[in-house]
Amino acid sequence: MSHPHFLVIPYPILGHINPLLQFSQVLTKHGCKITFLITEFNQKRMKNAIDHLRTQINFVELSDGLDPEDDRSDQPKVILSLRNTMPSKLHNLIQNINVLDGDDSKITCLVVSKNMGWALEVGHKLGIKGALLWPASATSLASFDSIPTLIHERIIDSETGLPTRKQEIQLLPNSPMMDTANLPWCSLGKNFFLHMVEDTQSLKLGEWWLCNTTSELEPGAFAKWARFLPIGPLMQSDRSKSSFWREDTSCLDWLDQHPPQSVVYVSFGSLATVEANQFKELALGLDLLNKPFLWVVRPSNDNDRHNHAYPDGFIGSKGKVIGWAPQKKILNHPAIACFITHCGWNSIIEGVCGGIPFLCWPFFSDQFINKSYICDVWKVGVGLEKDENGVISKGEIRKKVEQILGNEDIKARSLKLKELTLNNSAEAGQSSKNLQKFINWANN
Ligand code: UDP
Repeated sequence: MSHPHFLVIPYPILGHINPLLQFSQVLTKHGCKITFLITEFNQKRMKNAIDHLRTQINFVELSDGLDPEDDRSDQPKVILSLRNTMPSKLHNLIQNINVLDGDDSKITCLVVSKNMGWALEVGHKLGIKGALLWPASATSLASFDSIPTLIHERIIDSETGLPTRKQEIQLLPNSPMMDTANLPWCSLGKNFFLHMVEDTQSLKLGEWWLCNTTSELEPGAFAKWARFLPIGPLMQSDRSKSSFWREDTSCLDWLDQHPPQSVVYVSFGSLATVEANQFKELALGLDLLNKPFLWVVRPSNDNDRHNHAYPDGFIGSKGKVIGWAPQKKILNHPAIACFITHCGWNSIIEGVCGGIPFLCWPFFSDQFINKSYICDVWKVGVGLEKDENGVISKGEIRKKVEQILGNEDIKARSLKLKELTLNNSAEAGQSSKNLQKFINWANN
């Protein structure tokens, strides 16, 4: 029996590359052939991780259209550059691969992530099937897909995407009520909104919208949209260690020296930046806990506008500050007691799979909806609230950490949710069945 050949095309940030790499590894275990497109810039940044995976996955590179010194944390600039410069290159790349690989092994299906709808258009013109692997929650994808309805019902403005008035809505059955000001595009500006309207339209060329989630975590999305297919949780194999920064694994030995459920883990993912004042308050808050903490402070680079100055009086002796963490291993380490998180979807899925209670600190985009799921639906965490100056104070941090560490119900629910979620990836689990359905579809 022949196996499908997937060309996998992530938007070039870690939060997309990682889930697509994990998904690719899962597909290889089912005998599928994978060609993975990476930008030349990221190929250099992730060389070690990529070299590690070359026996399983065939990597191909294209330029992102930017100059080496351009600021790649400027997402609108990256999105525009990809859309303007990559389609014709991708078209040629696919044709070249198909000639080289011959009839038996032509690309049968493209799998893209958010912001890459244009790639499905390229595939469509070449008669190749497509699918989306959405790296965030199904609910956030449903919110983008609901934009025309929200405009029609005058809930948001058609030009800016901003709410026409203050109100709460429920996007899906069984999903939390949400303030329309927290719709994922509201914090990202008008141009991003307009881009997403277009992108979501192109993504409809993908017959499946695969999500790294489960039907228990977000039941409403799968009851309403036929093309949504939960295939989560995507798990990291030992071989995948992809990151732009060097992982500091010394923290695992450090964690080994701590008793079970004693360490507070703090990380805000790969994009969010903490303002100087807030950074100081967080540092003082962690000191105040009088508990061990493991805090990820990403190394600042030339493009980083935020330099981290530790406040006078910060001792930090109970904690360990590292530049980049082996996060999944950390979230599965028995010493971890709770996770102070920016509520990025990958971090949440990883925390759920570790059975860890959350302290939610959302910054932008879908992180507010994700927080609502944690606090209001699954009830496996609590939110950190800002004070009248818009700062999460050191007192708030201490109060909420103590609250969550003393809450046995939250701990019990976190463990239950872990079990329910992991069951999906077992052989007879729903996500495993969905994955098989997807592979069979790609092969036909
Ligand atoms: N991550 C990591 N080490 C860190 C911080 C984050 O490996 O020190 C990984 C984390 O495991 C997750 C990804 O980076 O897979 C972050 O994705 P997420 O969706 O949580 O947030 P984003 O970075 O997209 O805002």
